[in-house]
Amino acid sequence: MTKSDALHELSTLLGQRLSTSKFELEAHGRSESYFPLTLPDGVAFPTSTEEVSEIVRICARHGLPVIGWGAGTSLEGHALAHQGGVVVDFRNMAAILDVHAEDMTVTVQPGITREALNEELRATGLFFPVDPGANATLGGMASTRASGTTAVRYGTMRDNVMALEVVLADGRVIRTGSHARKSAAGFDLTALMIGAEGTLGLITELTLKLQGQPESVGAAVCAFDSISDAVETVIETIQFGLPMARIEFIDADTAAAVNAYSGSKLPECPHLLVEFHGSETALAEQAEVFGGILAEHGGKGFDWATAPEDRKALWHARHHAYWAILNSRPGCRAVVTDMCVPISRLAQAVEATRADIAASGIKGPILGHVGDGNFHAILMIDDDNPAELQIAKDLADRMARRALSYGGTVTGEHGVGYGKLDYMALEHGGGWDVMASIKQALDPQNIMNPGKVVRVAG
Ligand SMILES: Cc1cc2nc3c(=O)[nH]c(=O)nc-3n(C[C@H](O)[C@H](O)[C@H](O)COP(=O)(O)OP(=O)(O)OC[C@H]3O[C@@H](n4cnc5c(N)ncnc54)[C@H](O)[C@@H]3O)c2cc1C
Repeated sequence: MTKSDALHELSTLLGQRLSTSKFELEAHGRSESYFPLTLPDGVAFPTSTEEVSEIVRICARHGLPVIGWGAGTSLEGHALAHQGGVVVDFRNMAAILDVHAEDMTVTVQPGITREALNEELRATGLFFPVDPGANATLGGMASTRASGTTAVRYGTMRDNVMALEVVLADGRVIRTGSHARKSAAGFDLTALMIGAEGTLGLITELTLKLQGQPESVGAAVCAFDSISDAVETVIETIQFGLPMARIEFIDADTAAAVNAYSGSKLPECPHLLVEFHGSETALAEQAEVFGGILAEHGGKGFDWATAPEDRKALWHARHHAYWAILNSRPGCRAVVTDMCVPISRLAQAVEATRADIAASGIKGPILGHVGDGNFHAILMIDDDNPAELQIAKDLADRMARRALSYGGTVTGEHGVGYGKLDYMALEHGGGWDVMASIKQALDPQNIMNPGKVVRVAG
């Protein structure tokens, strides 16, 4: 049996929804990051769990890799078909299946994007809080254990997924978790699948926790003379226990890039972008406490925005910061780093990273979800200049090792893919071998997104 037999069977199953066109192979062979074009053998567009199960059964019979695909925005080469195989694109499985308003939950198919979900939920007074900078799919977000600007208040995908339907490597369909808020019934298979990056199965349904729209929302931008003043403000705010809904850092280079891209007029210095959720009274109290902490650290221009359009403009600019940075050097690509450290080491980590980048000869604006101790350097490189790529990789390597030496992690939210594989043994020690054992037990042929997260033979 050969690859072409497998593709023939898949095409009998899916008809035109199995594509081997150059256009689709290339569209599913690119990564958002610096990794080179890597073509799969075919792209499948299933419309149901039954079809996903049958796709996996066919691939299992022929030993062909199966790689899930949401929006393709992951940053560590997660969805690239390194060993060939079939990419399963979930764009035709993007429905909201059920909104349980009284339970504040929603059940969705994996291909729906976070923006589409919140648009549909708007009339219910509920929303789904996890917001990675890209308009990712819920299946991809669960698979990378994503988070975003609101994780400091509402948690990451780990905290917001209650139940899953998953197609395993042999085509079996299982359900994990329940619609109850808690459970002590055995191994937590939902948690196992979240962050597995499609290496253990394909997610075909998710039940998510929702939040009520807050009564009042206030957002503000404040400027600082130095990175350390901004970061110390964050540390004190978190240690004080102020329930921030968002607390984001951007450095001077990011502010300049955002101005040029989004037409904002931020002073070119470090900033915090913050948001508070609650009643009007709670908001006023929180703002007063935050204003006090800010003043102690020389924060300026606590520019308060309660009008929805002003807040929208602020967070739109933040969510587009990555594109703004790329735009500041036309034609460049980026090595995106993702260190996350205990909050007590945050200032040290950001300062050491800043100094390291300054000495490197390449540009790398810093921004991040600092309330969680998580920040990114967007290391800009000329794609045609291998020396710059090497400098960026060396910087990223030092950042990863620094994160570990501070008791943190090499990836706060982007995940492992194959870009971070080399750090897994360092971060987890023998725990990484346990991950490989789990992989071998659930996917003995190693067909589910092989070469990502764990290294196993086969
Ligand atoms: C500008 C920008 C900003 C970003 N900001 C953030 C951020 O703030 N926080 C953050 O966490 N990430 C961020 N990211 C990274 C990215 O958006 C997230 O990793 C996101 O969760 C990926 O979702 P996706 O739908 O694009 O998944 P994809 O990239 O398509 O896939 C990601 C992984 O999940 C697997 N997969 C996809 N669907 C399924 C499924 N149904 N079942 C099983 N496996 C599946 C894929 O095989 C792959 O391994 C950012 C990326 C960009 C480009």
